[in-house]
Amino acid sequence: MNSFQMLLQQQQRYFHEGHSKSVSYRIEALRKLRLAIKQFEPNIIEALKADLNKSELEAYSTEIGIVLEEINITLKNIKRWAKPKRVKTPLTHLGSSSYMYAQPYGIVLIIAPWNYPFQLAISPLIGAIAAGNVAVIKPSELAPRTSSVISQLIASVFSKEQVAVVEGGIDVNQALLAERWDYIFFTGSVPVGKIVMETAAKHLTPVTLELGGKSPCVVHKDAHIQLAAKRIAWGKYLNAGQTCIAPDYVYIHQDVRDEFVSAFREAVQQLYGENVLQGEHYTRIVSPRHFQRLISFLEDGRIVMGGKYDEARLQIEPTLMEELTWESPIMKDEIFGPILPMMTYDELNDVIAGIRQHPNPLALYLFSESKDVQQHMIEQVSFGGGCINDTIFHVANPYLPFGGVGTSGIGSYHGKFSFDVFTHYKSVLKQTTRFDLPFRYPNMKNAMKII
Ligand code: NAD
Repeated sequence: MNSFQMLLQQQQRYFHEGHSKSVSYRIEALRKLRLAIKQFEPNIIEALKADLNKSELEAYSTEIGIVLEEINITLKNIKRWAKPKRVKTPLTHLGSSSYMYAQPYGIVLIIAPWNYPFQLAISPLIGAIAAGNVAVIKPSELAPRTSSVISQLIASVFSKEQVAVVEGGIDVNQALLAERWDYIFFTGSVPVGKIVMETAAKHLTPVTLELGGKSPCVVHKDAHIQLAAKRIAWGKYLNAGQTCIAPDYVYIHQDVRDEFVSAFREAVQQLYGENVLQGEHYTRIVSPRHFQRLISFLEDGRIVMGGKYDEARLQIEPTLMEELTWESPIMKDEIFGPILPMMTYDELNDVIAGIRQHPNPLALYLFSESKDVQQHMIEQVSFGGGCINDTIFHVANPYLPFGGVGTSGIGSYHGKFSFDVFTHYKSVLKQTTRFDLPFRYPNMKNAMKII
C-alpha cells in the first residue's frame, strides 16, 4: 500500500465514523479555517508576491477577501442548507411523505491551478467541508511558495484524516488520480481536464471541471466607450491577464474603433502609470515557458499599444494588438497573458457566428446600452457566465453559480452552489403502515386480503 492509499484509508475511516458529518463539526471547522486564514494572511501575501509578484491589494481582494466572504456566507446559511427538506408528494402516493437528505459524498480530491493558487484551492474546500466531506488538496507546483503556505495553514487547523494537502507536480497528481475518490473537483486547463475526466470515469467518480477558454469582449457602437475601455483594461491586466475569465480578445464595432483605442490607452495609463515594467506592483508571468509562448504572439499582428517586455523579470507590458484573424496563432488558444487582440466588426451577427464556430467561452462580456442587443447576445451565444457592461465582476457574486459550459467546464460553484456540488441529495419516501392502497398491485382483490 503506498502513502496515498494509506491516507485515503485513514480519511475513509474518519468519514465513515461520521465525525465530519455533524453540522456542529462543519461550523467549527469553517470557523477555525477562517481564523487560520486571518493569522496566515501575511504569509499568504508574501507567498503570492514570491510566486507571481502579486500586489498586496490584488492578493487580498482576489485571493484572501473573496475566500473569507465565502466562509461568512456559508456559516450564515449552513444550518438551513443541511436540513432535510420535505417536498410535495402527489395524491397518488396517499399516506406517504417525501424528503431530500443532503448527504456528503465522502472523500473529495481538489486539484488547483497556479494563477489564483490560494483562492482556487480553498474556495472549493469551503463547499466540501460545509457539505460534510473530508478532503485532499493538491495545489499547483507552479506556485510553490503558496502551495507550502496552504500546506502549513491546513495542517494548523486539521488532522490528515479531515483535510490533507499533498504537494507536488504532475506525477503526484497522476498518482492521486489513480485512486478511487468520491468526488473530484478540478480547476485548470482543458487538456488536463480531459485527463481528469477520463481517469475519473474508470471509477465513475463524479467531477466538477472548472476549465478555461477564449472569453470574448464585444464592444458595440452604442457602448459607453470610456467605461468599456477602463473596465476591459482592468479585467484584462488584472494578474497580468492570467485569469481564467480574463477578456481574451476584443471584438469592436468599426465605427468606434478609434475612440476605443484612445480611451483604452488613457485607461491603461491611469491604472498602471507610464512605465509599468519599472513598477513594483505588476504581476509577472508564471514561468519562462509561459513567457516565451506569450512573447511569440507579439509577431502575430500590429502592436497598437505596449509590446515591450522584461525577460529577466518575466513581465510583459499591457499590450493591445490588431490586424489579426481567427487564423493567427494568438487566436487559436486561450492567451492567459497581458496581450489583448482586437478585431473589428460591422454586423453583430458576424460576431455571434465567429464565437459560435469556436469552443464555448467560459465568460463573455458585452458592452452596449441597448437592451435588445444585450438580450440577443445572452440568448444566442452559449457561455459559462459573464457581464453586461463590465468584466470579471460576476465571479465575485456568491449568489451566482460560477462555471463553464461545453469545453469551458462542467458544473458550477460558489455560495449555495458550492454546498450543492459536494452534496448528494438522497431522495427518501416514507410510507405509512396504517393502510395499504391496493391500486398498484396486479391483483387488487388478493392484495387487499394481505393487510
Ligand atoms: P493545468 O491544467 O496545467 O494544471 C492544473 C493542475 O493539474 C495542477 O495542479 C497540475 O499539477 C495538474 N496537472 C498538470 N498537468 C497534468 C497532467 N498531465 N496530468 C495530471 N495532472 C496534471 O492548469 P494551470 O496551468 O495550472 O492553470 C491554467 C488553466 O486553468 C487555464 O486554462 C485557466 O483558464 C484555467 N483556470 C480555470 C479556472 C476556472 O475557474 N474555470 C480558474 C483558474 C484557471
